Amino acid sequence: MFDQKEEPILEARHVSRVFPASGGRFLRANNDINLKMYRGQTLGIVGESGCGKSTLMRMLVQLDQPTEGEIFFDGKNIASMTKKEQRENRRHIQMVFQDPSSAFNPKMKIKDIVCEPLLNFGLISGKEKDTEAKRLLRLVELPEEFADRYPHNMSGGQRQRVGIARAIALEPEVILCDEATSALDVSVQKNIMELLAKLQREKNIAIGFICHDIALVSQISHQIAVMYLGNVVEILPGTQMKASAKHPYSVALLGSIFDTNMDFTQKIESIDSEIPSPLDVPPGCPFQNRCDRCMEICRKERPMLRKISERHEVACHLFEEKEGGERG
Ligand code: SF4
Repeated sequence: MFDQKEEPILEARHVSRVFPASGGRFLRANNDINLKMYRGQTLGIVGESGCGKSTLMRMLVQLDQPTEGEIFFDGKNIASMTKKEQRENRRHIQMVFQDPSSAFNPKMKIKDIVCEPLLNFGLISGKEKDTEAKRLLRLVELPEEFADRYPHNMSGGQRQRVGIARAIALEPEVILCDEATSALDVSVQKNIMELLAKLQREKNIAIGFICHDIALVSQISHQIAVMYLGNVVEILPGTQMKASAKHPYSVALLGSIFDTNMDFTQKIESIDSEIPSPLDVPPGCPFQNRCDRCMEICRKERPMLRKISERHEVACHLFEEKEGGERG
């Protein structure tokens, strides 16, 4: 059961990330993001390429810092921690990347790769490495003998298991997966998802799962945040994604899914027109030039996230007049 009475383990409050660009302009990759992650729960983050998902993840994992806003881990503002506390805090938030082969040093054996974080934090000695590597490999259901292999002697799915073994080595409270299954075959993808779900159940880890595949994310996430052009435009329970999505962008994303169980009498929708340049976002709603329900107010005022029912928030002027209701 999802319990929002519990305190979030990781929280973004009014987080924005702005990058300077040529000609004195600025690229706003994330705009006033508010998100919460809970122990034992998965937060899926979906949206098209360039919507700011990865920038957000980099800030959550302390690889980058917000231009505005704050990130809290277990109730503590990360920015107000000392350097020593921030380093210690990195243990608790780990990341799994899309392409583990590019994240690993090809000259390192698997045992060196999975044990590197433990050695860096002084949690094991060199003598304990072999035993610890085998324990971690067992946890991700890989044979112990793989400890002496190199990454290029493994399949993509096996390498991703190594990436997960390395991520869980420090017993983190949060794992952030950036398109972690996107490069894998569908059957391998399923196995990796099952492994992450098993580890989450056993260790009560909060998982953040960035993915452009909305069908996959809605199957595995307790909660989903839909991002568009640096903004979170809708937050809702994963199980209700298909039936309850309200934001015109979320609805359009769902309409563009192709799968073999779909109703082939229904048209596969595409989203008209291009995403505006993030260097030139118009005032008002960021989705206005692609939305067939755009109104005058949408071109003037940016819609804020608004709770329309329990655990469901939407940033759209269609849902601002009354709780849970639409404009006429
Ligand atoms: S605020 Fe307006 S333009 Fe934006 S999604 Fe809602 S109806 Fe469409």
